[in-house]
Amino acid sequence: MSQVGSTASPRSGDVPARADVVVVGAGITGASLAHHLARRGVSVVVIEQSPQSGTGATGRSGGMVRAYDPDPAIGELALPSLATYRDPGRWASGQAPLHAVGAVTAAHPAEEPALRQAAGRINGALGTSAHVVAECDEVAGIRLAGGVALVEPEAGWVAPADVTADWLVQARADGAVVCHGVRVRAVEARGGRPAVRTDAGVISAGAVVAAVGPWAADPVPGLRPASPVRSRSIQVSVVERRPPAPAHATFVDLRTGLYAKPVGADRTLIGMPHLVWDSPFDAQPDPAHAQATVSALSAHFPWLTTAVHLSTVRAADAYGSPGAGGQASGLLVGTGVPHVWSVRGWNGSGVKTAPEAGRRIADACVTDAFSDVA
Ligand SMILES: Cc1cc2nc3c(=O)[nH]c(=O)nc-3n(C[C@H](O)[C@H](O)[C@H](O)COP(=O)(O)OP(=O)(O)OC[C@H]3O[C@@H](n4cnc5c(N)ncnc54)[C@H](O)[C@@H]3O)c2cc1C
Repeated sequence: MSQVGSTASPRSGDVPARADVVVVGAGITGASLAHHLARRGVSVVVIEQSPQSGTGATGRSGGMVRAYDPDPAIGELALPSLATYRDPGRWASGQAPLHAVGAVTAAHPAEEPALRQAAGRINGALGTSAHVVAECDEVAGIRLAGGVALVEPEAGWVAPADVTADWLVQARADGAVVCHGVRVRAVEARGGRPAVRTDAGVISAGAVVAAVGPWAADPVPGLRPASPVRSRSIQVSVVERRPPAPAHATFVDLRTGLYAKPVGADRTLIGMPHLVWDSPFDAQPDPAHAQATVSALSAHFPWLTTAVHLSTVRAADAYGSPGAGGQASGLLVGTGVPHVWSVRGWNGSGVKTAPEAGRRIADACVTDAFSDVA
């Protein structure tokens, strides 16, 4: 059995013949899941079509993480995930990946009671100092433009590709086989269990989980989620931040969907919802949207009007509703093939939820992979 390395071309027989669980996709979701499965002693094979990890949504992501989310299903995952991102003991590198620059979530003043309740919940669970600011012009380098804000000083951002790589290191150390540069062509039922056809051989699996990000919108045969997933464009730009522009926390405005985060000491990443559906993953950036993003965000960061634009990246994420009646509280969606599951679309939140989502999906997989053959 050989692991297909990052430079090797796949050859027939390069993948193991069987595994308890096959994970398709080595983005942040697949990597978290593989880590949790391997830690439980499950034999796991990860199949990633790209020669290296982090080429999908994960590699382009801003990586903003916070405990709060207005969607309770996301918030329930994001809170324990933040604890993992803060804990150096959970990482092969021995270092917590979190850059704790703080996180500011702005909202309409009517949301103040809900935000205060959320701050209490977060602090109770994490021992943090989340708090609400109201009637305040500016907080953590961000103008609130009339809103109230939940401030999470212990949140911030992670580098999603580094997090992914760390989990794959841990998964391999626990026995997982991670195959890069191998594409899954189809998944079919054979004798009641799935057979995963790749361009380097066939793997018989107890269960299969597709963690294919925006590819879930147009998946290979056998991986189509029962509740539809669509790909939606996400476009971000990086601009220079020079003094006297202040350092700032990460920022999301629930009134408009605008967001921003610092990148190192002198750059800022900015974004605004780009409502282009069924967008190809590698579509060209939209310059008009980039311009509109600068204009809209200058209400919060006035220095943006004169900032030097450095780059714009466009990618996509998988959007969908969680699998109603699915497993692991809607994290897994069934497909037409028994024991083959697709993870839910993360709707632009896959990084802040990945640690806890991977853990819960692993629990569901273990039950399914070792259930009686149908
Ligand atoms: C620009 C941008 C900014 C973002 N900012 C944030 C943020 O600040 N905070 C946050 O929480 N989230 C953010 N997100 C969302 C988050 O990054 C995604 O939800 C998350 O990365 C999705 O991870 P994934 O592993 O599900 O998908 P991906 O990272 O896309 O991984 C899927 C993998 O599956 C592989 N694959 C697909 N088909 C096959 C096949 N047939 N065979 C083998 N391999 C296959 C692909 O090559 C890919 O590597 C952002 C996303 C983008 C694009």
